[in-house]
Amino acid sequence: MSGISSDGSWRNWAGNQRSTPVRIERPRSEADVVALVRATAADGRRVKVVGAGHSFTAIARTDDVLVTLDNMGAVVGIDHDTGQVRVEAGARLFNLNPQLHAAGLAMPNLGDIAYQSVAGATSTSTHGTGLGFSSVAAGVVGMRLVAGDGTVVVLGPNDDPDLLEVARVGLGALGIVTEVTLQCVPAFNLHAVEEVLPADEVLDSFDEMAAATDHIEFFWMPHTDLAMRKRNTRTTDAPPPPRNRRHALRRRWKRFKNKELMENAAFGAFNHIGRMAPSLIPRLNGLVASEGDRAEYLTTSYEVFASPRRVRFYEMEYGVPAEYGIEALRRVMDLVQNLGRPISFPIEYRILGPDQIPLSTSFGRPTAYIAVHVFRRTPYEDYFRGVEQIMDDYGGRPHWGKLHFQTSDSLGGRYPQWYRFQAARRRLDPTGRFANDYLDRVLGS
Ligand SMILES: Cc1cc2nc3c(=O)[nH]c(=O)nc-3n(C[C@H](O)[C@H](O)[C@H](O)COP(=O)(O)OP(=O)(O)OC[C@H]3O[C@@H](n4cnc5c(N)ncnc54)[C@H](O)[C@@H]3O)c2cc1C
Repeated sequence: MSGISSDGSWRNWAGNQRSTPVRIERPRSEADVVALVRATAADGRRVKVVGAGHSFTAIARTDDVLVTLDNMGAVVGIDHDTGQVRVEAGARLFNLNPQLHAAGLAMPNLGDIAYQSVAGATSTSTHGTGLGFSSVAAGVVGMRLVAGDGTVVVLGPNDDPDLLEVARVGLGALGIVTEVTLQCVPAFNLHAVEEVLPADEVLDSFDEMAAATDHIEFFWMPHTDLAMRKRNTRTTDAPPPPRNRRHALRRRWKRFKNKELMENAAFGAFNHIGRMAPSLIPRLNGLVASEGDRAEYLTTSYEVFASPRRVRFYEMEYGVPAEYGIEALRRVMDLVQNLGRPISFPIEYRILGPDQIPLSTSFGRPTAYIAVHVFRRTPYEDYFRGVEQIMDDYGGRPHWGKLHFQTSDSLGGRYPQWYRFQAARRRLDPTGRFANDYLDRVLGS
């Protein structure tokens, strides 16, 4: 589940990060975590927790002591009056979401998959889309973590709230999070409308539509003039009952066709064909999205937000100030057309409201997110470096869990409260117990 093989090696979901840790720890309780941190301190080793291994960067990579919280994924308590839910930090979103739903609750916003662990998602500033909503970490109202010396630190509105704010997006650098308290909202449904439209129409109307739509995003298909736009509206309406059995089957088939066939099976097959015959990619991209394609459905929020992702890829994603998002995207589209080789994966565009978490990619500004992908085991460096250069012009902030080439020197100035994070790190992990090569690069050693 966390990418750990029976031979003791580890790899991430995309397969581009691998390691052979000296040992693997599988704690069952916070006391076990305290003991293992103290033991690694005693033998002078570094320690790293891996969540679901869904980061593309080496953020969770270690050749030292690897910890998985796969045995710490339970819901600890639900407060029905406040909507606050305490969960062990290793809980996976796909397990948590149905449990919240059964309790009449939901996470306010989610990314487009639910494989992540709660602490993994919050630690890297994972986000969904919607100008009126913020990152997953913004919903964290309490936390327990084990610091570098093995001390348990309790954070909440009355327990060091300043440190809580910083630790919500901790990059795994501040300690091992053992428990998180999430502010949930009453369960809701989403009315989804997905349509393939001319790309210019989607881009030109985006900012206006984003202001009037709960959750909106689109995917531009490279080498075509088409974009697939998704709009989700929050509702407590129940899905209309099917008119008859045939209608019910047709509905299920349509969702299966979109989520499994087009986004996974056929898309995967097209990518394999495209790898063997790159000149076919533009035509295959046209098959994935045909103008006029439209789907509309209404169901539970988490089932709409998150989809299965079976085709493996490498990804880079940048957050830029929302007012420059479409301009930056148009430059990326030009780059793709002039790259000299075809790109088979769509480019994703999302938008999010600001939060006040120092290392959140949407700190202090409404943020447009531009994500580029390539099929795995395909060269990406020229493409991603080109995109990164464009993002640099807008003070872009790379997703901590997605590929990028920045260092602490280039990143510090993009986060106005960088110093607060560094102070928290000095306080909680002065000896770098939780550091690894990636953190040395992006935070400094
Ligand atoms: C197919 C796919 C789709 C994705 N979609 C989105 C999306 O829609 N939006 C988005 O923003 N991102 C998305 N991501 C990125 C993903 O959400 C992040 O990379 C996230 O961090 C993965 O969570 P994880 O549990 O796999 O964490 P890991 O990758 O295993 O770890 C990430 C970081 O969290 C730390 N960590 C994990 N657990 C703890 C703990 N208990 N205490 C302290 N630190 C901890 C790790 O040490 C590491 O630093 C996607 C990734 C993939 C592969």
